[in-house]
Amino acid sequence: MTRQSGAGLLSHAAMPTLRTLEALEREGLVRPDPRLAEAAQSMAIAITPEMLALIDHGDLARDPIARQFVPSAAETEVSADELADPIGDEARSPIKGLVHRYPDRVLLKPLHVCPVYCRFCFRREKVGPGGEALSAAELEAALAYIRTHDEIWEVILTGGDPLMMAPRRMGELMAALDAIPHVAVVRIHSRVPVVDPERVSPELVAALKLRRASVWLAVHCNHARELTAAARAALARLADAGIPLMGQSVLLRGVNDDLETLEQLMRALVTARVKPYYLHHPDLVRGTGHFRVAIEEGQALMKALRGRLSGLAQPTYVLDVPGGHGKVPIGPAYLGDDPDSLMIEDAFGGRHHYPG
Ligand code: SF4
Repeated sequence: MTRQSGAGLLSHAAMPTLRTLEALEREGLVRPDPRLAEAAQSMAIAITPEMLALIDHGDLARDPIARQFVPSAAETEVSADELADPIGDEARSPIKGLVHRYPDRVLLKPLHVCPVYCRFCFRREKVGPGGEALSAAELEAALAYIRTHDEIWEVILTGGDPLMMAPRRMGELMAALDAIPHVAVVRIHSRVPVVDPERVSPELVAALKLRRASVWLAVHCNHARELTAAARAALARLADAGIPLMGQSVLLRGVNDDLETLEQLMRALVTARVKPYYLHHPDLVRGTGHFRVAIEEGQALMKALRGRLSGLAQPTYVLDVPGGHGKVPIGPAYLGDDPDSLMIEDAFGGRHHYPG
């Protein structure tokens, strides 16, 4: 794939990821503004060539791809409700790089770098090139914790983006997890197949295949436009290797907070063999008020989706309870609250009595 840049017609592979405000200015994505410097200081910038190619330079203010990755002056506005650690990772971390929130599963965060930096990121204050990756000793300590807690059934690799690891390192980590008998499932959360699809090389795919434990991959994607031909090919490489794929999306103001866009996204995911899993209500991340929608708006969108999409394409709308208390589904509800008469609302708004 190619795009016309200042340097002429270049393949994506030959183009660098944009990492500075100056680079964004050269591309015409921002104008000089001291508030942008402040925003860029609070979170690193990275826009891969694949995502840059999708941005409509003629309508930057309303472009759903630019909105996700280009810093905005609105990020400097922080409200009293917003938190540095909105989902409470720190409160549930028994050892560096590990979060043990539910008895049967842990998050393992081997590194904090990502291929892109999403301006709404729930770990906004942790991710970035300066973020700490686990040293070999720290990773070994995290693995030792998992080995000695035989209630851990599932290990969720997150970060940062775990697929930023070199195939050899990824293979070593996966093999170490596969060697722990009580770990039945390794789940990987990644944005790489969508935003940097060439990274999903045959070597990386081979590194993800385990002899014993099941491997699942949750891919983060917020707009159907992100599922380019290259992204769909990367997802196909993973699916063809026998790795089940799930979709995670964040409901974001100005990106996907309308019915048509959400419907197209869910259909595009299923078509790419990705089962929509979660639609996240945006977290209370500092400086991200411009991305948040009201819960009632999210519920209304989910209700409308129910009437349009098959169950295969329905995500669960979830909220991470601030403070580290985990995720809960937040509706919409289809049961009335009269205890004497069970009233059920169908996907089209019709109301029906259910006996019993
Ligand atoms: S890829 Fe994930 S962890 Fe990285 S910046 Fe985006 S949302 Fe945050």
